[in-house]
Amino acid sequence: MNAEIIAVGSELLLGQIANTNAQFLSKSLAELGVNVYHHTVVGDNPKRLKNVLHIAEKRSNLLIFTGGLGPTKDDLTKEIIAEHLGETLTLHEAAFASIQAYFAKTKREMTPNNKKQALVITGSEVLPNQYGMAPGMYLQKEGCVYILLPGPPREMEPMFVHHAMPLIEAQLGAKEKIESRILRFFDIGESKLETVLEDLIDKQTNPTLAPLAGDGDVTIRITAKSRQQKDAQALIDQMEEQIFQRVGNYFYGYGQTTLMDELVKLLEAKRYTIACAESLTGGMFQSELASVAGVSARFLGGVVCYSNAAKITQLNIKEETINAYGAVSEQCALEMAANVKMQLNADIGISFTGVAGPDSLEGHSPGTIWIGIAVKERPPKAFLLHLAGSRNGNRKRTVRYGCYFLMTELNQASPH
Ligand code: ATP
Repeated sequence: MNAEIIAVGSELLLGQIANTNAQFLSKSLAELGVNVYHHTVVGDNPKRLKNVLHIAEKRSNLLIFTGGLGPTKDDLTKEIIAEHLGETLTLHEAAFASIQAYFAKTKREMTPNNKKQALVITGSEVLPNQYGMAPGMYLQKEGCVYILLPGPPREMEPMFVHHAMPLIEAQLGAKEKIESRILRFFDIGESKLETVLEDLIDKQTNPTLAPLAGDGDVTIRITAKSRQQKDAQALIDQMEEQIFQRVGNYFYGYGQTTLMDELVKLLEAKRYTIACAESLTGGMFQSELASVAGVSARFLGGVVCYSNAAKITQLNIKEETINAYGAVSEQCALEMAANVKMQLNADIGISFTGVAGPDSLEGHSPGTIWIGIAVKERPPKAFLLHLAGSRNGNRKRTVRYGCYFLMTELNQASPH
């Protein structure tokens, strides 16, 4: 299947909004192993949309449209596609009933043009819209699949994941099973990862390997095809094994997980509690920690000690430590981690102190950051980072490094 994503909307051409729908869809299709060769953006203009359809059908056999399903006159995606395919529009009773129910519930008056949103292309499979009014559509004609999705991402994304993806998978699975697995790595650059895995990437056929770089994060998607699902899984297992032999140290999780999710799982598995002392991160680590459901049994609390005075008064950091070594120092990070652990009677103390930027501090350049980690009775350790991002980029990456270093430490620590 070769896909083309067609975003409809003049506001995209005017630069008023970015085409994030195309990004989301491309990523999701890559995970399914579907090639995306073209992104197209077209304004709310019937003639130009028809032109786009003609061009796209010649080079792609999965056309995904977003936008232009709304109630107003310039929303014309389904009208143009129906006309192009020689189909009519029919009122979808269930969609119409839910539009009426929405207006009744919100005590708003329904204008006649809202009925237009319940019209669907005759013969299409209707994709329910859980977060809005316009239903999506899936139809197949002469070897080409057409998927119509609403423009707002909060409506489009769940509709695509829950209703369109299974139909695409079924379409692909009719021929052979496609299985894919995403491996996530941290603290290894994309270029290093590619170099280490170069021979595997070069000779890839089945499974295929697709590395993708994020913010300090690299993922590899392994995709295998086979007639039997279990054979595809076995191919993936073998490839994963080879990858782990080379870069297993940097691996932290599968699929859509995050470093913080994985850290919380590890805390849970070890039944360890954690307390945090944050200077440059200003509570960011704790905020992310608290955002993981089920963390309450593990996360005790912490201190935001941004100024030196707060470090001394709130956390009992010795004045001599700050005078002799500075706040941006290994000694200060170690003391912060040990003290917060003791004050909250936790199994783990983690601390962050450093220079977020843009200015230097205590003679240290921006991005010089210490992370202190104290686990149980083991001697506390400190890790030094030299980051090169913006102020907030450095703060965010510091949080991620905190998760990563702590996971590495805990994986070495003996269980309770
Ligand atoms: P509605 O029923 O809300 O009118 P629609 O399907 O007609 O939905 P549009 O009117 O084209 O969609 O766009 C509605 C809003 O959705 C836009 O103002 C924008 O905020 C968002 N949107 C549309 N297309 C995209 C896109 N490609 N990427 C990101 N956001 C988009």
